[in-house]
Amino acid sequence: MTLDIQKIREDFPILQQKIYNRPLVYFDNAATTQRPQQVIDALNKTYTEYYGNIHRAAHFLADKATTAYEETREKVRSLINAETREQIIFTKGTTESINLVAFSFGEAFIQAEDEIIVSEMEHHSNIVPWQLMAGRKGAKIVMLPIDDDGRLQIEDLEKLITSRTKLIAVAHVSNVLGTINPIAEITRIAHSKGIRIFVDGAQAAPHLHIDVQKLDVDFYALSAHKMYGPNGVGVLYGKKELLDQLPPYQGGGEMISEVKFSGTTYNDLPYKFEAGTPNISGVIAFGAAIDYIRNIGIENLAAWEHELLNYATEKLLGIPGLRIYGTQPEKSGVISFNVDGVHFFDLGTMLDKFGIAVRTGHHCADPLMDHFGIQGTVRASFAFYNTKEEIDVFIEALKKVIAMF
Ligand code: PMP
Repeated sequence: MTLDIQKIREDFPILQQKIYNRPLVYFDNAATTQRPQQVIDALNKTYTEYYGNIHRAAHFLADKATTAYEETREKVRSLINAETREQIIFTKGTTESINLVAFSFGEAFIQAEDEIIVSEMEHHSNIVPWQLMAGRKGAKIVMLPIDDDGRLQIEDLEKLITSRTKLIAVAHVSNVLGTINPIAEITRIAHSKGIRIFVDGAQAAPHLHIDVQKLDVDFYALSAHKMYGPNGVGVLYGKKELLDQLPPYQGGGEMISEVKFSGTTYNDLPYKFEAGTPNISGVIAFGAAIDYIRNIGIENLAAWEHELLNYATEKLLGIPGLRIYGTQPEKSGVISFNVDGVHFFDLGTMLDKFGIAVRTGHHCADPLMDHFGIQGTVRASFAFYNTKEEIDVFIEALKKVIAMF
């Protein structure tokens, strides 16, 4: 199927505007995507038609809001092919999902001297929560290195695993390199040694078809705001037998069964991990975002984004002195680069004056920057609403900026 990109773009009001009198070219999709009108309408509709606090009240509005909220849970379940809706926990984002697992898994399963393997290409949010947990428990973090093409050195994994290894934490897709990691293979190695695997799917879920059963992962996290949905909403998927064994992450309303001063019992899954009033309208509107991407078809959007990636990569490589970080064939639509003699921050700031939004800096991946001996990069990241014409505009602007320096 060929996508009608111009028609798709009409769904995204924010893309219609001009920045410094030039048409906006939005290439910061790995940081956060933009929302189609359908998601904005769903958010608006929640507040104007059926907003009430979920699960607790017996009245019409609360009931409608609860139904819509739970419908999104089913949509997420189906999107990632989880076995049951109990395994879909709403959080405020990937970061909170990771903190939840780091805390609760740590409490249940980690002892002093245990080890957690974390890859070198991780976002800080998939490093620091494990470090905090390791600090509390007296456990150790062991790094799984990458090579200079941005590939995980899977062949080292078996050597890094010891009798103390309890969990491997790894991104499905790197937010800097775009590398798509071989999750099924890593999971197979982990499980053959009785080790659990946590996958950070923040950069994968917007671009790849995810099947948690096929991947056989123990935990999977994603963020709605990177999937054309509202910010402040995320998901944690977990295997049921594991989630059942984990203690709650936060205490409060909703997560309890019965509260007594003599002792409290906890609610069933998924509510055990959803303390307090969640982002009700955001979760409901996330359902509209899932409908939107499924209507286009994940395979279709992935194919178009791949075409954009190849087109942009070829053009960028034609620029003298430009180096791309992350050159794996299995790659999603993220290109990080530097240009000899020009600071990434200056490139980004000048591109902005051409109406082009890119990211500059360390991309919350300091260990990865250290690997390449750099402070940061420019990062252009694509979504299905981007076009080859926008890439042409970007390349021309980049050449002009480089010439100015
Ligand atoms: N992991 C990766 C790979 C990411 O790209 C991001 C967002 N930049 C996160 C985790 C954190 O996601 P959030 O800020 O939505 O919690």
